Amino acid sequence: MRAFACPICHRLVVFESLECLHCGTALAFQWDARGIAPLHDGLACANRDLVSCNGRAGPSGYCLSCALTRTRPADDDDAGRARLAKAEMAKRRLIFELLELELPVVGYRERPDGLAFDMLNSRSGEVSTGHSDGVITLDLAEVDDVHREQLRTQMHEPYRTILGHLRHEIGHYYEPILCPPGSASRMRYRELFGDERADYQKALKRHYEKGPPDGWSERYVSAYATTHPWEDWSETFAHYLHIRDTLQTSIAYGVTVAGPDVFIVDEAPLYSFPAATSDGINGLLDKWLPMTYALNALSRSMGAGDLYPFVIGPTVTEKLGLIHALMSTERVSLTV
Ligand SMILES: [Zn+2]
Ligand SMILES: [Zn+2]
Ligand SMILES: [Zn+2]
Repeated sequence: MRAFACPICHRLVVFESLECLHCGTALAFQWDARGIAPLHDGLACANRDLVSCNGRAGPSGYCLSCALTRTRPADDDDAGRARLAKAEMAKRRLIFELLELELPVVGYRERPDGLAFDMLNSRSGEVSTGHSDGVITLDLAEVDDVHREQLRTQMHEPYRTILGHLRHEIGHYYEPILCPPGSASRMRYRELFGDERADYQKALKRHYEKGPPDGWSERYVSAYATTHPWEDWSETFAHYLHIRDTLQTSIAYGVTVAGPDVFIVDEAPLYSFPAATSDGINGLLDKWLPMTYALNALSRSMGAGDLYPFVIGPTVTEKLGLIHALMSTERVSLTV
């Protein structure tokens, strides 16, 4: 995420700011320019009061992000609306990053197979979060911290957030776009993630019965990634978005890591890439990994858990390398 300045008094405001805390100017986020501007009459997103969206309205009356939401709780459902507000906040961050990475964001209002979000308010998880043909379903019960933490503990996951869910599900959406059938990227995908034509339902059943294979962390970014190539891709894709967003934020705020003095660069397991082939991803991880060590140490100093509770091994680095190549000018040659 970038850092923003109030267009009137030039003090710091954030991506979500509805008004400047210093001069009181009402603010709107302009999706086309991806910047903060004064809010002009009649141009507030129709969701401004309902879910505190600061987006500037497009032709539909909603901002670019809110216009992608196809289904949501009724406006008089107070509990649902409170959850929706938090989910939409995470979704705006997702959409911002997709645009920053120049990924296509085409909504269902523009094209029948375009991107749509169904925000469904179950009481305790009767709705399945997932993706199908451009429609991302989010169970708003996950917004509830207690419910989400219970699930996280039950599933032995080190990390579970709404933004993380959205980053994972959008990975499913982009998989056939970035790796079309017959393309160079699809061939590379199969080398790295495996053959996605393997029976998905069987794979899921096996995962829930037997759990991840021994030693999975050397080849996968999470236990869930071991389920099926589709899930491996999406888990890795979500990580790529974590890394790019957090690194962008660190640059925006001038955070650099030059320590600790005891930093060991040779045999440390978090820092070995014998199998890596791409300088691009290595350059990115050279910035990212020291940052995570520092962020995790800071977080532990506050008595909280690691901000980035993951290990990136050599195989995962290669997987991230393909995604990184697909985010660069190489995309053009890889997707044909
Ligand atoms: Zn101001
Ligand atoms: Zn909006
Ligand atoms: Zn998935």
